[in-house]
Amino acid sequence: LDGSSTKYFDFLVIGSGVAGLRYALDVAKFGSVAIITKSEPQESNTRYAQGGVSAVLDPSDSVENHMRDTIVAGAFLCDEETVEVVCREGPERVKELMAFGASFDHSEDGQLHLAREGGHSHHRIVHTADMTGREIERALLTAVKNNASISIFEHHFALDLLTHETTLQDGNTITCHGLDTLNVRTKEVVRFISAVTLLATGGAGHIYPSTTNPLVATGDGVAMGHRAQAVISNMEFVQFHPTALADDGLPIKPKSRENAFLITEAVRGAGGKLFNMARERFMPLYDARGELAPRDVVARSIDDQLKKNNEKFVYLDISHKPAGEVLGHFPNIARECLKCGLDITKEPIPVVPAAHYMCGGIQTGLSGQTSIEGLYAAGEVTCTGLHGANRLASNSLLEALVFAQRAVNPSNDHFQRVQGSYRAVDEAREWTRPLESTAILEDSQLEEIRKFTAVQRKSLQQIMWNFVGIVRSTERLEIAQRRLEELETSWQDHLFRHGWKPNMVDLEVCEMRNLICVARVVVRSALSRRESRGLHYTTDYPDLVESRRLPTVLIPAYWNSGL
Ligand code: FAD
Repeated sequence: LDGSSTKYFDFLVIGSGVAGLRYALDVAKFGSVAIITKSEPQESNTRYAQGGVSAVLDPSDSVENHMRDTIVAGAFLCDEETVEVVCREGPERVKELMAFGASFDHSEDGQLHLAREGGHSHHRIVHTADMTGREIERALLTAVKNNASISIFEHHFALDLLTHETTLQDGNTITCHGLDTLNVRTKEVVRFISAVTLLATGGAGHIYPSTTNPLVATGDGVAMGHRAQAVISNMEFVQFHPTALADDGLPIKPKSRENAFLITEAVRGAGGKLFNMARERFMPLYDARGELAPRDVVARSIDDQLKKNNEKFVYLDISHKPAGEVLGHFPNIARECLKCGLDITKEPIPVVPAAHYMCGGIQTGLSGQTSIEGLYAAGEVTCTGLHGANRLASNSLLEALVFAQRAVNPSNDHFQRVQGSYRAVDEAREWTRPLESTAILEDSQLEEIRKFTAVQRKSLQQIMWNFVGIVRSTERLEIAQRRLEELETSWQDHLFRHGWKPNMVDLEVCEMRNLICVARVVVRSALSRRESRGLHYTTDYPDLVESRRLPTVLIPAYWNSGL
C-alpha cells in the first residue's frame, strides 16, 4: 500500500445500521469518525425491520416482566446481568431515538402506540406502522450526514482488521489498529488506521438460500473477528423467522428476490392464525400459546407440518379482521402482497420459515468490549448474552441501541489513552500481509473466478439448509462439516488454477471466504451442543440438559485458510 491510500481517524465504525450509526453520533463528540459501509449507507438489516423496538413504556408493564419474557424465550441461556441492563436502559434509548428525529406511531390519547408480539407478556413494541427499521435508519442517517465530524465511506468493503500481538508477562494481548478495505467502485485497497474500531456489520443470513436479510448480510464481521482471534460465542443459534412470504404460493410470482419478504409476527400478535393446506389450525397442537408462542416453537411447528404433509408452505390468515385495521397496521405488507396478486384483507398469506437472525457472534462484555484491545462490537454481529438460545422478537434493535451507547465511554477512555500515538502505528508495524489488486488478472480469468464463486455460494447455502436447518442431527451436521471442507478446497483450487493469488482481494471472493468461515463455525458450534435448547434442535439429543446451560465458546485460533 502506498501512503496515499492510508487514512487516519480517531474512531472507525464498520457498518451503517442502527448500531454503527448510533455509536458514531456519540463518539463524534470526542474525535473524528469514519463509517465504512459496503453498499449504500442505508442498506442494512436495520432498514428492513418491521415490527419495532421492545421497551417497557407502559405503566402496567415492568422491567422484571421484560426480563422474564427474554429469559424464557432464550431457553434460560441468557446472561441475566445483560438482560437486566438492556431491559432497564431500553426506554431511555427509545426516547433518544425520538430526539434524533425518529417518528413512532401514537395512539389517540397521545401516548406511544405499543404493539404486542410473540413471546411478550405485555404490549411493549414501539413501531412506525410495519416499517420501523426504515424510520430509525432514516432518522439516524440524517443526523450522521449533518454531523461534520463523521465521514461516510460507502461501497467500501471491510476486508480484515489490522491487529498486532504483544507478548506480556501475564499472556498475549492482541490490539486492533484499524482495518483494510476495498473500495468496490475503484478497486483500490484503502487502509484505515484508528485508535478505536467498532464492529457493527450485522448478520449472516446469506449462509442460507432463503433469508429475510439483504445481500450485505454475509457474516463478514464474525469472519474478520475469527481471523483476528476474537472470541466467538453461541453460533449454533440461528433464528429462522417462521413467516416469510412463500413465493411458491403466490398468484403472481415475483421476479427473483435477493431476500425473502418478511411477514412480521405483529400479524400474529394482531390475531393472525396459521393454517395448513387442509385449512386446519395447527399451532394449538404444538403449544398452548398457539400463534403467540416464541419464534423457535412456531418455526419448528411449521417445519413439522411441511414435512408431515409434504407441502411447500402454510397459510397465515388475518383476513377475519376489519380491512381498515389490517391496512392501518400493515400497509407495507399489504402493498407488497398486492404486487404479487394477493389481497391480505380477503385471502390468507402463504408463508415459510427463512433464516432471519444470528443470536451468536463476537463475544462482548457489558461495555461492548471484545477480547481484542481497541476493538468494540455492537448489534447483530455480537453475542452479548441477551438472546441466549433464542432472541425474543424486537429485542435486537434494542440490544444494538443499548450496546452502541454503552461502548461510547469506554471507547473514549481507550482513545484518550492512545491519543496521538495511534497515528504512528502504520509506519511502526509490519502488517500480516500486503494485499494485491486483481488488476493483474485478465478479465476472462476474473469472470471465470466470479462465475464459479457464485455457483459455489449457492452450493454452500444448500448444504446449510439441507443439513444445518431448523431440525438437526449429529449425522447430518457431520455431513455438512465434510461437504463444507470439500467445497472450500475445490473452490480454492479452482481459483488458484485461474491465476488467483493468496493475497488478492475481490468483493465476491472475499464474501465467499467469509460465508465459508461462518458456515463452518455454525456447524462446529452445533456439533458441540449435545442437547436441544431454543433454536438448536437435534434429534440425537432432543431434551434440554440442565448441566449444559452454558454458552458455546470458540477458542481463538488463527484461521488457517489458503486465502
Ligand atoms: P445492520 O443493520 O445489518 O447493519 C450492518 C451494516 O454493516 C450494514 O450497513 C452493512 O452494509 C455493513 N457491512 C456488513 N459487512 C460489511 C463489510 N464487510 N464492510 C463494510 N460494511 C459492512 N429486529 C427488531 O428488534 N425488531 C424487528 O422488528 C426486526 N425486524 C426485522 C425484519 C427483517 C426483515 C430483518 C432482516 C431483521 C429484523 N430485525 C428486527 C433484526 C434487526 O433488524 C437487526 O438485528 C438489526 O437491525 C441489526 O443492526 P446492526 O446495526 O447490528 O446491523
